Amino acid sequence: STVTSIPKICIVGSGPASFYTAQHLIKTVPRVEVDIYEQLPVPFGLVRFGVAPDHPEVKNVINTFTKTAKSPQLRFVGNVTLGRDLSLKELRNAYHAVVLAYGADKDRELGLKGEQLGNVVSARRFVGWYNGLPCDTDFPVNLDVEEAAVLGHGNVALDVARLLLTPIDKLKSTDITEHALEALSRSRVRHVKVIGRRGPLQVAFTIKELREMLNLPDCITVCNPFDFETVRSAVPNLERPRRRLTELLCKAADLSPSGNVDSNSRQFHLVFFRSPLSFQPSPDVPDTVGSMQLEVNQLDEQQHAVPTGSTETVQCGLVLRSIGYRSTQADPDVPFDIDRGHIPNISGVVQPGLYVAGWLATGPIGVILSTMTQAFGVGRAVEADVSSGRVDVSQARPGHTAIGKLLNDRGVTTVSWKDWERIDAVEQSRGKNVGKPREKIVDINEMLAVSVG
Ligand code: FAD
Repeated sequence: STVTSIPKICIVGSGPASFYTAQHLIKTVPRVEVDIYEQLPVPFGLVRFGVAPDHPEVKNVINTFTKTAKSPQLRFVGNVTLGRDLSLKELRNAYHAVVLAYGADKDRELGLKGEQLGNVVSARRFVGWYNGLPCDTDFPVNLDVEEAAVLGHGNVALDVARLLLTPIDKLKSTDITEHALEALSRSRVRHVKVIGRRGPLQVAFTIKELREMLNLPDCITVCNPFDFETVRSAVPNLERPRRRLTELLCKAADLSPSGNVDSNSRQFHLVFFRSPLSFQPSPDVPDTVGSMQLEVNQLDEQQHAVPTGSTETVQCGLVLRSIGYRSTQADPDVPFDIDRGHIPNISGVVQPGLYVAGWLATGPIGVILSTMTQAFGVGRAVEADVSSGRVDVSQARPGHTAIGKLLNDRGVTTVSWKDWERIDAVEQSRGKNVGKPREKIVDINEMLAVSVG
C-alpha cells in the first residue's frame, strides 16, 4: 500500500522492552512517530528500579535508551497510567498501532499458613525499597534480626542476599536510596539462608551472581555436602554455562566449613531441596515471623521436587519471597490470560495493530538481553504489518494531539523527556554532594515539582 500519512505508534511502559521496540521502529519504519506512555514520571522501568545498586555497569543500557529518546521521532509522556488515565480503546483509536510493554510488577505469593505475619515480605518490594520505587518507600521491613531467609534460587534472590550481607561501606558510593542505606547500616542481619526447592543442578541464578556471593568480604559460604553427592558425576555431561556454574557450586561446597561455624560471622547458606510449609510467629515479637517449617524434597525422574515426608524448622526473623512475578490486566480490553499472568501472543503479535513486548509477553523470565531480542522481534512484526498493509496507515490518526488533549482535560500532569532531564540533573547533583552517582527522588510529587524547573 502507499503510505500517505505518518505512521503513529504508541508504546505503554518505558522499560527495556519499550525502548528496544522503539529503537527498531524508528530505524525501520519510514517517518514513524513513536509515543511512549509511562506510569511513573521517570523512565527505564526495572533498569532503574530492579537492577541492583552495586551493578552500575548493567545500567549502561540507559545510554542507548537515551539516544533513542532524543530522536525527533520519539515522544516520552511520563506520569500516565494505562487503565487509570487512559484506556486501551482511546489509544487504539488515536494510533495506528499500540505496543503494550508494561512489564510484570506484581508479586507471586505462596499461599501458606503464616504468610501474613510481619517481616514475611516480597523480595521484589524490598528491591523497590532500596532502589527508590515510590510506592515502596515506606515498605515495612525490620532488619533488627539476625537470621534472614530468602525463598528462591534466582538472581533476584542472590541480589537481596548480597545487599543484606555486603559491608555497608561498599554500598555508600552506589545509587542506593538514603533510607535504605540508613536502615542497612543499622541492620543486625548476619546469617542469610537462600532456600530452593530443588538441587544444585537446577538453580536459576547465573555464575556472575554466585561468584559475587562467594567473594563477599568477611562472609562464609555454607552448603551441605550431601546435597552434592550425585552432582559431581553429572558435571562432565553438562552444557558449558551450566557446567561452569555447577563446578563453582561444587567448589563452594568443598570450601564450606565442616564443623561448627563461629555464629558471630556473616554467613551465606545455600540451602537445597527444601520448600516452605508454614511460618510461625516469634515468641518475642507477636505478629512477626520467628521461624519457618520446611519440607524436605527429593527429585523425581523428571527432576521435579517431590516431598520426602520429613520436615525441619529454621529460625528466621525475616523472610523474603523471591518466587516470581506476574503481570496484571491494566485495562479490561487487554486480552489477558489470568492463569499464566501474561498477554497471549505469537511473537509479540496479539492481533494486527496490537502488540506486546517484554515481560508482559514472555512472563517474568530473562535478563535485559533476552528482553532486547524479544522486543526487536516485536519491532519487526509491527514493521511487517505496516509495510504489508495489515495495519492500514493510509488514513491519518491524531496520535498525541488527541491523547494529549484527553490527558489535559482529565487534569493529568505529564512529564516530557526535557522534564525528566531536569529530574535527572537534580538527582545527579544531589548524589555528587554525598559521593553517589545519584540520589534518587522517591516521592512522585517531588519528582513533578523538580521536573517543572
Ligand atoms: P519493565 O522493566 O518492568 O518495564 C515496564 C514499565 O512499564 C515500567 O517502567 C512501569 O513503570 C511501566 N508500567 C507498568 N504499568 C503501567 C501502566 N498501567 N501504564 C503505563 N506504564 C506502566 N536483568 C539484567 O540483565 N541484569 C540485572 O542485573 C537484572 N536485575 C534485575 C533485578 C530485579 C529485581 C528484577 C525484577 C529484574 C532484573 N533483571 C535484570 C531483568 C530485567 O529487569 C528485565 O528483563 C526487563 O526489565 C524487562 O523489561 P520490560 O520492559 O518488559 O519490563
